Amino acid sequence: MHQLVFATNNTHKLQEVSAKIDGQIKLLSLDDIGCFDDIAETGLTFRENASIKSRYIRDKYKLDCFGDDSGLEIDALNGEPGVYSARYAGEHGNHANNIDKVLKGLQDQTNRKARFRTVISLIWNDEEHFFEGTVEGAIRHERSGNEGFGYDPIFQPDGYNVTFAEMSLDEKNKISHRAKAMEKLVEFLGRV
Ligand code: IMP
Repeated sequence: MHQLVFATNNTHKLQEVSAKIDGQIKLLSLDDIGCFDDIAETGLTFRENASIKSRYIRDKYKLDCFGDDSGLEIDALNGEPGVYSARYAGEHGNHANNIDKVLKGLQDQTNRKARFRTVISLIWNDEEHFFEGTVEGAIRHERSGNEGFGYDPIFQPDGYNVTFAEMSLDEKNKISHRAKAMEKLVEFLGRV
C-alpha cells in the first residue's frame, strides 16, 4: 500500500484524513516515522509554510508527504494575523491574548470581514500539488461560545448567526476551511 506522511502530530487532523482515505493509502504521522524535529515555519504565506513542512519530510525521509498551514485573515487589519495567527500576541498558542489583540485592533472598525484559510502542500511522486480551502465570515465584537479553539469564539461564518465556538465539531467540520482543503486533497488521492 502507498505510504503518505501527514506532517503533523495533531491527532484530530490525522483522524479526519485517515478516516477518509482508509484502505487506499497508509497515512503516517511524524511520530510514526520517528521525526521529532522542530520544523521552523519561517514562510511569509500559508503556501510557503505548508511547503516547508512537506519538502522537509520529502528531503529527509524520501517519503511522499503533505503539510498544512492555516490562519485567520482580517480585511481591516490588512490580512493580519495571517501566518502569525498562532503567535499574534507574542506567545505561541495563547488564544486568549490573540483574540484580545484582534478585538482591540478592530475597535471602532465597522468593516469586520474576515476569512479562515488553509493551504495544503502535497508532494506526491516528486511533484508538488496545492489544495486550498476558505470560509468567509465576520469578526464579532465579543466572544461567544466554548467549542473549538483559537479564534472560534469571535468568528461568525457567513450565513450563520452563531460563531464557530457555538457550533458542534461536526457542524464546523462541514463548512470549515480545513475541511474544504482536506476534501480536495482526499479527492485527488482518490484519483491517483
Ligand atoms: P494551524 O496551521 O492549523 O496550526 O493553525 C494556526 C493558527 O491559526 C491556530 O493556532 C489558530 O490560532 C488559527 N486557526 C487555524 N484554524 C482555526 C480554526 O479552525 N479555528 C480557530 N482558529 C484557527
